[in-house]
Amino acid sequence: MVDLGFAKCCESWRLESRFFPCKVGGKPAWLDLKNIPGKSELECDYCGDPCVFLCQIYAPLNNPDTFHRTIYIFICRNVECCKSNQNGNLKVFRSQLNKNNIFYSPEPPIEEKYWGTDVDVSKWVKTCHICGILAPCHCSKCKVINYCSRIHQIHDWKNGHRETCSTKAVNTKERLIKDNGILFPEYEIIIDFEEIEKPTENEEKELEKYNAMIKNNTAGTLQHEDVVNDLSKIALHEKDQTFSKFRVTVQNHPTQIIRYDIGGEILYISSDNQITNVPKCPECNGNRQFEFQIMPQLLYYLGSTDFKCLDWGILAVFTCEQSCKPNNKYVREYIWKQDIVQQEGSSEIKQNI
Ligand SMILES: [Zn+2]
Ligand SMILES: [Zn+2]
Ligand SMILES: [Zn+2]
Ligand SMILES: [Zn+2]
Repeated sequence: MVDLGFAKCCESWRLESRFFPCKVGGKPAWLDLKNIPGKSELECDYCGDPCVFLCQIYAPLNNPDTFHRTIYIFICRNVECCKSNQNGNLKVFRSQLNKNNIFYSPEPPIEEKYWGTDVDVSKWVKTCHICGILAPCHCSKCKVINYCSRIHQIHDWKNGHRETCSTKAVNTKERLIKDNGILFPEYEIIIDFEEIEKPTENEEKELEKYNAMIKNNTAGTLQHEDVVNDLSKIALHEKDQTFSKFRVTVQNHPTQIIRYDIGGEILYISSDNQITNVPKCPECNGNRQFEFQIMPQLLYYLGSTDFKCLDWGILAVFTCEQSCKPNNKYVREYIWKQDIVQQEGSSEIKQNI
């Protein structure tokens, strides 16, 4: 059974660590509040900038060591680093905790704004004012604002800290605005079951209908929501059965941004560039399995035109089959980026998005 994730606007206090959220954008809501990764672990393979938080999925498993368990995805914001079918601009981490741990009460959280606010990463380590990862540096003038790297310090200086640094008002809550030019817009991810009422026979009929519409050049009329429009760029790939299956499957819930199916099947977007070899877990040397995939629909929620050129077909996340105990650290997991290779004629469609 596949679980689907949908983006939903939400007050940001609900997305803090104390509530074990699934979310997109903003700063990461760290699970282990102490051993969080920093710039060296999050460096983009291509440009060396720290990758920025994209989303996290709270996915506990039925085991004492995985009573709490969260998977984090980070991506480099630089559009040049977004290379077709390459994953060097993406990082994945897994964190997990026993029910009895030093950070959280074993009792379930109560969803109230001021409940449990003493549970916060700032009690344990310094985090980057701009991006929320581990911050070993601070502003040398005021010594109050912390940064993960020089690049975020310079960014902050140019975008406001220059004016506020010497004033008494400076404190770590400074400019807690969501849009600091680095972070993605923040959303809650709501998880829901995928309804699979449709028998395969119907799906085939849908597919036939869809292919006929493509032939008649009326496929665009199928789309009721803007979010779906992106898929029209792939209409040219109707010869690709894999894509047709993708299109039909997604059509039932066109705004899905996540497909969660641990140990299940990837819904590929193309028959090209499918993954054949998943690297082993670096901690236990055991196999990894597919856990979930991020859908191209998420791109629509990243907002600002700056991000417009970030692109992917699907991002498939693979995690340690044993979900091995990570000894007080965030364990690196594996992500596979599958793109639709642009074919002749498809560039016009892309321009219309
Ligand atoms: Zn980069
Ligand atoms: Zn930073
Ligand atoms: Zn300062
Ligand atoms: Zn492992």
